[in-house]
Amino acid sequence: MPTYVDEDHLSQKPLKTIQDLCKKILEYHPLADVKVVEKAYYFSEKAHVGQIRRSGEAYISHPLNVAGILADLRLDLDSITTGLLHDTVEDTHASLPEIKKEFGDTIAMLVDGVTKISKMNFKTSTEKQGENIRKMIVAMGKDVRVILVKLADRLHNMRTLRHMPYEKQARIAQETLEIYCPLASRMGISSLKIELEDLGFKYYLPEMHYQLTQAVQKQEKDQAAYINGVKSLISNELKKSDFKSFEVQGRSKHLWSIYRKMQSRSIEYDQVYDVLAFRVIVENISECYAVLGHIHSLWKPIPGRFKDFIAMPKVNDYKSLHTTVIGPEGERIEIQIRTREMHLIAERGIAAHWKYKERGKMNVESIGKIEWLKDLVTLHQQVRNPDEFLDTVKTDLFENEIYVFTPKGDVKEFPEGATPLDFAFSVHTDVGNKCMGARINGKMVPLKYRLQNGDTVEIVTSNTQKPSKDWLKMCVTNRAKSKIRLFVKEEQRLSSLLLGKDLVEKEFRKFGVSSAKFFKGEILSKFLNDFGIHETDEVFVRVGYGKLEPRIVVERLAPDVVAQVTKTPIVSKGSEDASFIQKVFKNAAQKLKRQGSLVKVGGMDDVLVYYAKCCNPIPGDNIVGFITRGRGVTVHRSDCRRAFEFDQLRKVDISWTQDSVQTGQERTVKIQVISQDMPGLLKLMSETFSVQGMNIQNAQVRTTRDKKAIATFEVSVINTLQLNQVLQDLQKIKGVLGVSRVVNS
Ligand code: MN
Repeated sequence: MPTYVDEDHLSQKPLKTIQDLCKKILEYHPLADVKVVEKAYYFSEKAHVGQIRRSGEAYISHPLNVAGILADLRLDLDSITTGLLHDTVEDTHASLPEIKKEFGDTIAMLVDGVTKISKMNFKTSTEKQGENIRKMIVAMGKDVRVILVKLADRLHNMRTLRHMPYEKQARIAQETLEIYCPLASRMGISSLKIELEDLGFKYYLPEMHYQLTQAVQKQEKDQAAYINGVKSLISNELKKSDFKSFEVQGRSKHLWSIYRKMQSRSIEYDQVYDVLAFRVIVENISECYAVLGHIHSLWKPIPGRFKDFIAMPKVNDYKSLHTTVIGPEGERIEIQIRTREMHLIAERGIAAHWKYKERGKMNVESIGKIEWLKDLVTLHQQVRNPDEFLDTVKTDLFENEIYVFTPKGDVKEFPEGATPLDFAFSVHTDVGNKCMGARINGKMVPLKYRLQNGDTVEIVTSNTQKPSKDWLKMCVTNRAKSKIRLFVKEEQRLSSLLLGKDLVEKEFRKFGVSSAKFFKGEILSKFLNDFGIHETDEVFVRVGYGKLEPRIVVERLAPDVVAQVTKTPIVSKGSEDASFIQKVFKNAAQKLKRQGSLVKVGGMDDVLVYYAKCCNPIPGDNIVGFITRGRGVTVHRSDCRRAFEFDQLRKVDISWTQDSVQTGQERTVKIQVISQDMPGLLKLMSETFSVQGMNIQNAQVRTTRDKKAIATFEVSVINTLQLNQVLQDLQKIKGVLGVSRVVNS
């Protein structure tokens, strides 16, 4: 969605006095009783007395201007009052009970919410970041105004960031881009989002920002002439029909969105053809469609680029028609068409939902309509793993949305790339778990089908269907992912339980007894207690996962029996144990999914093998195997550091099968390429892979502050020969600084 720099919305002019603020409020809300705002100002001024901002100004200038931004957003008096008080509890002697006494419960709750967010430390580990966003979302779930005040706080701090020490600027700017911008975007407040993004850009990537500013300025004159040309062509066309009143706007997109386009396509500024965006604002909906017709008669529309957000509004209530056409000079032009009311919501998002009641109060009920907010809060309660949560929230916040229909015609929103699985899990967990595929617009499609805007989706289920790990790759919503993980985990637990039971029984048999009669009485309770196990099944699960030796179970539960019998080693290298190993793993192989037979273990090629994630061996690597109960044999590279940490008694000789090295199945490896940040390099790299006949499954590029690009590819390879060849070829590309195979340990 193109976004515009709308300078007439958020005022850049700093407020100096409380009178400035009151004047601003009365402009949009003439009946407002601003006494409470004045009271909050003086309370805050007194509390902050003696504190100085880095800019040299008295501290009160900060809360005053935060309140000013909230007034620019035309928020209610509670929000503005909170803006004035937002730092008092954290930074001064003022206390929450005091605020409650002076300003009432609502203000106290809002100030408390903002204070709590301010205490969060966003810069720490990923794990903490997930935790923090969760807390933030809980705060938002209580009252979304908490976040609006926090966003205004951040915006004023960004506007005055130049006074901060250099090293702090980059960190704060990064945090702004990663956390606050997506939030502002999700709230639909485009003016706030755009200013935060451009300020974040300026301080996070100062050189890049400077260069791009220069490049944009160089073209400004030409652009202005072009914009005026297109505007008058549209105006003249519309004047031929009788539109009551209309406005045509044309602007350059904001810097950050241009930069993102350059990044995603690895191109230079002058290659970005769609830096300009136009907008037509009319009186009513039928005029929107009429304007669309006129524009399509003027210029040829590009198929697939028309989006009707009026018939299918976004969840944050954004409405507009979007189209892209081939303009007068043969270039692409993006045009948005909307009514004034739609424009207001597009600019102010969630903030536009406050409606004034008679006594100057606002209606907060409409917030309940904002489904995604409710979803996030529920999600936070369901997903306990912070990493997973962060993953989810990031996807939910950043991805573009698509809109599809249920068979009954209800609209559902999903991130781009969503599949029938995402849809199915959004209906009900049972529907998701049994999802076979879907009928899209009446036609059967497989699970991996990517939903398209406007699809009508009917889920097909089967009672014999069940989720598997592979499904995780086929969905994008966190709801689907967490439900699938839950199912897979439960199933793994079950197979570990069965395997564990088997292993324990076998261990008992070695001593000539059956396990059943030993799992009881005080001796069992003591054993469970010593190991911190709550129920007997957990013993088997632990054995199945390889966390507990079956031998220990026997020793603890049947000490007398063990004492009588000569000790025998559980598993050791050598041929006499081969039949035992074979039995155990044939069993395991039946219970767990077989993962191919690239590897031979002691001459057998039907053993359940599992490739270690730490070193990710591929055919051709020197390898060793370790018996891990519950997973069969884990294959490591011989030089893997982790391989030395394992119990060497569990080591088994393994080798690649002849087939695997020559023709075998493909395995995925990660390759990292560090290069100069130059356009076109990415293309050369991907060509190198395709010359080798290798598929790129995933690619990620990030740029560093010193203008290097770090590209990470996940590619399928057959063996080390092919891998080494491609590593050499990549190294030969001009501009490439280093190439390596990525291992995790
Ligand atoms: Mn503040």
